[in-house]
Amino acid sequence: MENIDKELLIELSRVYGSLTNRVVEKLFTPSKRYYMRVNTLLITPGELIDIFREKYGIKLYQDPFVDEAVYIIVQGPYNVPVVDKKIVVDKNAAESIVLGANVYAPGVINYDDFRKGEEVNIVAPNGKIIALAVTEKSSDELKSIKKGVIAKTIKSLYKLPPIRDLEEYRAGLFYPQSLPAMLVSKIIKPKPREIIIDCCAAPGGKTTHLIQLSRGLAKIISIDRSIQKVLKIVENIKRLRQPENIHFHVGDARYIDLYYPLLKADKAIIDPPCSALGVRPKISIDKTFKDVINNSRYQIQFIKAVSRVLKHGGLLVYSTCTITFLENEYIAKKALGYGLKTVEVQLPYANKVYYGGIIAYRFDPLTNDINGYFIVVFKKTS
Ligand code: SAH
Repeated sequence: MENIDKELLIELSRVYGSLTNRVVEKLFTPSKRYYMRVNTLLITPGELIDIFREKYGIKLYQDPFVDEAVYIIVQGPYNVPVVDKKIVVDKNAAESIVLGANVYAPGVINYDDFRKGEEVNIVAPNGKIIALAVTEKSSDELKSIKKGVIAKTIKSLYKLPPIRDLEEYRAGLFYPQSLPAMLVSKIIKPKPREIIIDCCAAPGGKTTHLIQLSRGLAKIISIDRSIQKVLKIVENIKRLRQPENIHFHVGDARYIDLYYPLLKADKAIIDPPCSALGVRPKISIDKTFKDVINNSRYQIQFIKAVSRVLKHGGLLVYSTCTITFLENEYIAKKALGYGLKTVEVQLPYANKVYYGGIIAYRFDPLTNDINGYFIVVFKKTS
């Protein structure tokens, strides 16, 4: 078993009981299906599937439940040959290199001396060998460069085509996004002229999906707390060539009721920072139970503020990409104290959860080989 905070394991066992270890093991492997959302404002899923097949020989499959969702099958696990030299990369870099991405200078944290054109192992911070790569620079050159590819990955534990390097990605024909994340905007069903708040919006996965579904006709208030992050949303909207009928707000969404005291929104999404345990594959899990408690205290504040700016009968979708109890069911139950009640919806790949008067949806890596995720839908009743 990997090295994980004991209290965090206890927290997970509140949900998974005797299955906890198996769920945790699954988090260290990628889902077999890697999902992308087709930008249906520019292209149909069928057309994108044809382009991938004819131009790149990559097979894309259409999801049977969500029209705009297509996926690639992730290959592996493979054996990675072990060589003498290594480059250690940070956790973020490791999480993409393990799927076959190249090694970029900013992700490197440590390395042996190497020449250009030499084979090296790429190693995660916890010592796990994740890939074999051929260097494009020497270690001396690496000392003075800050960006760019420093090694080309030739064998990784798992393999996914480099989809973000494709012309079609730059042309905005698709947005890599997990299937449960797509369901959030689908539940919202944005209609023309409706006012919809997206509270923790960057980099804009759900905001851009809302624009797509409403063809730019819903009025979206897209909030994130840092200007850099809001600029990421703008960048994605531009890449996807979407209409910009959108109001950006750089600020702390926990105080949205103070910024917009007169607002009565039709619908809202809260997708707050979370422990992200459901995002696979994990290289290591360094989140602790303390982080989970802190997140939980933070998350409830969004519910409180948003419930105040939602109109009577308005819809709120709360989602996280994590699988702990405290960041999910616990928050959903607390929300009942803010004039919200949970509603039942039909969601593919989800397991329905009943807990203390709430109904919610868990996406569980074990039964559906999907990323871990949580969704609960509320209606404002007072
Ligand atoms: N909904 C996004 C992902 C959100 S990740 C998508 O689908 O693409 C969580 C986001 O919450 C981060 O971008 C973070 O900057 C933002 N955030 C954290 N605290 C916040 C706060 N108090 N107010 C607004 N945004 C916040």
